Amino acid sequence: MPTVTFGNRSCELAQGETVLDGLLRHDIPAVHACKTGSCGSCMLRAVSGQVPEVSQIGLKDAWRARGYFLPCVCRPTEDIEIGETAGDIRVAARIASLVPLSGNVLQVRLVLDGPFEFRAGQYLTLIAGDTLARSYSIASIPSDGPLELHVRRMPNGQMSTWLFDDAHEGDAVRIQGPSGECFYVPGRPDQPLLLVGTGTGLAPLYGIVRDALACGHRGPIHLFHGALRPEGLYLVDELNALAAAHSNFTYTPTTDPIERAVAGSIPKLDGYRAFVCGDPAVVQLLKRKIFLAGAAMREIHADAFLPSAA
Ligand SMILES: Cc1cc2nc3c(=O)[nH]c(=O)nc-3n(C[C@H](O)[C@H](O)[C@H](O)COP(=O)(O)OP(=O)(O)OC[C@H]3O[C@@H](n4cnc5c(N)ncnc54)[C@H](O)[C@@H]3O)c2cc1C
Repeated sequence: MPTVTFGNRSCELAQGETVLDGLLRHDIPAVHACKTGSCGSCMLRAVSGQVPEVSQIGLKDAWRARGYFLPCVCRPTEDIEIGETAGDIRVAARIASLVPLSGNVLQVRLVLDGPFEFRAGQYLTLIAGDTLARSYSIASIPSDGPLELHVRRMPNGQMSTWLFDDAHEGDAVRIQGPSGECFYVPGRPDQPLLLVGTGTGLAPLYGIVRDALACGHRGPIHLFHGALRPEGLYLVDELNALAAAHSNFTYTPTTDPIERAVAGSIPKLDGYRAFVCGDPAVVQLLKRKIFLAGAAMREIHADAFLPSAA
């Protein structure tokens, strides 16, 4: 079986075992979250030995060339020596503020110690301590200054409990990314836009709508934000103010089933560009409904907030 050497520790992998699982089984600390090769948080660098191509899918060409790979989907067939990512992959950051937006949603603002280019609506990996990593959508637009995240409290959730109960302004974290294709691309400024999210699915949409308006989008922009209870709706004043300032923007907060709220207001979605974010089951349902209402599948951009496997 192949042996993985990481710093001064080595471990032999079991049959079919991934590098990440092998490291964790040997109590070798490794940052990780999704364990499916999508969030990228576990990325490491192959110093010697060949890693399978599948473990580099989705990585930038420049990263692949430097030997970066995703250990959560890497099952090597030969011995490899691996190392940490370089400083340009993970950006050091500090918590600038922690402000409740509702009973169970916290606004987390981060100031960064290095450059971080992103499009409003993408997501990043937030890393706290040595190994805790989770994906969060970016609610700010690049011109805002600090990066803004909206974090929902999960019962017994490792990252959200830390942020709600233990984190303080000034605490050091790291971020990695950005990732995701759910963002506004300028062009076709008269196309109607539909943005739909539940819970903290509002975070990327809050960035996308402000980005589209800043880019001069002229077509109608409809934002629907759903929550189970009225207290789950947040940024209501800010979004109402945005709607008052832009005649092409309408904002609909709702506690009704979100797909019904959308269908009741806009039954036909031919020609629309849609952005859908939040709970995975709701995102799946909305994508289907929006397609059936006439939007082309290539015009439906979605981020499902899948739970971490950690
Ligand atoms: C692309 C992407 C973007 C995301 N953006 C955001 C965001 O903007 N804001 C935000 O709050 N979260 C977002 N998430 C979810 C986030 O990454 C974490 O999964 C979430 O914050 C819970 O982390 P935790 O450490 O607090 O809980 P964990 O310690 O990971 O989980 C605690 C318990 O809760 C369960 N659990 C976790 N998530 C869910 C869920 N969604 N449904 C049901 N059970 C669950 C776990 O299985 C576990 O039993 C996003 C996820 C993805 C993949």
